[in-house]
Amino acid sequence: MSNVSIDVAPGPGFRYNLWTTGCQMNEADAARVAALLEAAGGRSVDDAREADLVLLNTCAVRQQAEDKAHVRLRYVGQLRRRNPRLVVALMGCMVGTNPERMAALREAYPFIDLFLPPSDLRPLREFLATREAAPTGDGVGCVGGGETDDGRPPVPAPDGIRAYLPAVLGCSHACAYCVIPYRRGAERSRPSGELLDEAQELVRRGARELTVLGQIIDRYGLDRPGEMHLPELLRRLAEIPGLLRLRFLTSHPNWFTDELLDAMADTPVLCPYVELPVQAGSDAILAAMRRGYTAEQYRALIRKIRGRIPGVGLSTDIIVGFPGETEADFEATMSLMREVRPDMIRVAKYSPRPQTLSARTMSDDVPAEVKEARRVALEGLLRDFLTEKHADYPGRTVEILVESVEPGGRRRGRTPDAKLVFVDGCDAPPGTLLPVTITWAGPFSLIGEPG
Ligand code: SAH
Repeated sequence: MSNVSIDVAPGPGFRYNLWTTGCQMNEADAARVAALLEAAGGRSVDDAREADLVLLNTCAVRQQAEDKAHVRLRYVGQLRRRNPRLVVALMGCMVGTNPERMAALREAYPFIDLFLPPSDLRPLREFLATREAAPTGDGVGCVGGGETDDGRPPVPAPDGIRAYLPAVLGCSHACAYCVIPYRRGAERSRPSGELLDEAQELVRRGARELTVLGQIIDRYGLDRPGEMHLPELLRRLAEIPGLLRLRFLTSHPNWFTDELLDAMADTPVLCPYVELPVQAGSDAILAAMRRGYTAEQYRALIRKIRGRIPGVGLSTDIIVGFPGETEADFEATMSLMREVRPDMIRVAKYSPRPQTLSARTMSDDVPAEVKEARRVALEGLLRDFLTEKHADYPGRTVEILVESVEPGGRRRGRTPDAKLVFVDGCDAPPGTLLPVTITWAGPFSLIGEPG
């Protein structure tokens, strides 16, 4: 761990601008950073030009995400030239946990004052503490060493009525294409006592829906001898008075257990919804991806889940254009999706990521236009079967949790199986469970009226 001098520091009552991209885990990290900055007297501003401190919370899962961060960094560099007292902090998967990466970033962007590995707030906490000790403006920042944040992270104010609860940090699975294990470090579960306290505090502050997060959330507790596992954690969270809905993500087919299905079947607060990425429908590609299951095993798991939890919502992720993916491989993915008909498919075009097995040993040989055509084909398929699936919704009554009020007063909420619903002619505040009769159904949203 090395110290760097920062001869600029935000004064008391400073303004900060937080820019964040990427997954739900990043959003959860951003909420914690905001809580820490607010506790130190900071006030959020939307325009980075008005800020004393700018923090970029980055994603590296695909090249496109990283490119976006480089564009933003160049803009922040211009702001810094205009205002040499501006403090610049870079956080997240672009930083990672490797000191050499941080050194390379420092060389490319010498104006960055603070580096924060994903989910690790210590460098910012130390910076803020030093700033308090030296209010003259000669603060000292500290480069993070990439360990877990040992102090209890600050409990953020929930964003409206929904909040995230990061339960498993990092990942040790090492799918051939994925950079997350290299940037978020080894898998580690947070203690259940800490999670239950944090959840209670979030609900006390107004959260009505919690989403428990992990790269392979089903593995919760397995790395902590004596710790409870995911089904028990979910049952305990569901008992928190005032909590109306509980969700969890992301699942991995190899770790999704019968006990988890039992918990879903008998815990009303726990929503009937699973996010279960399959990534491909061809066994050759699944093996090359090091996913650890076959398409038939995935099909069998989906049959079991649907048999046990009627009406369960299913979301999946697909990567198109993985090295060596032939037309026949892609057709296997299309046919798996035609058969399974998930409620959501998040399609990503493969991009090689540093250090990963696929980037090191396989050539990115599917042409860009073929990747794009495959993405379009899958998304077209999704649109078609969602249109069909939703055709019988008009006239049906569903229950939504109102989560926000749109401009014009329209309510926005979701069903337990995560269908997006808009409701007109209703003044129920966010946090209300509301029966809604559907009047219109499209592939990606439904419209209804109260009652
Ligand atoms: N832990 C989860 C989510 C990982 S990241 C899982 O195991 O599925 C979210 C999604 O990004 C992945 O599901 C995958 O579809 C996509 N993704 C990850 N690495 C990628 C890469 N190199 N190129 C394209 N998409 C990628």
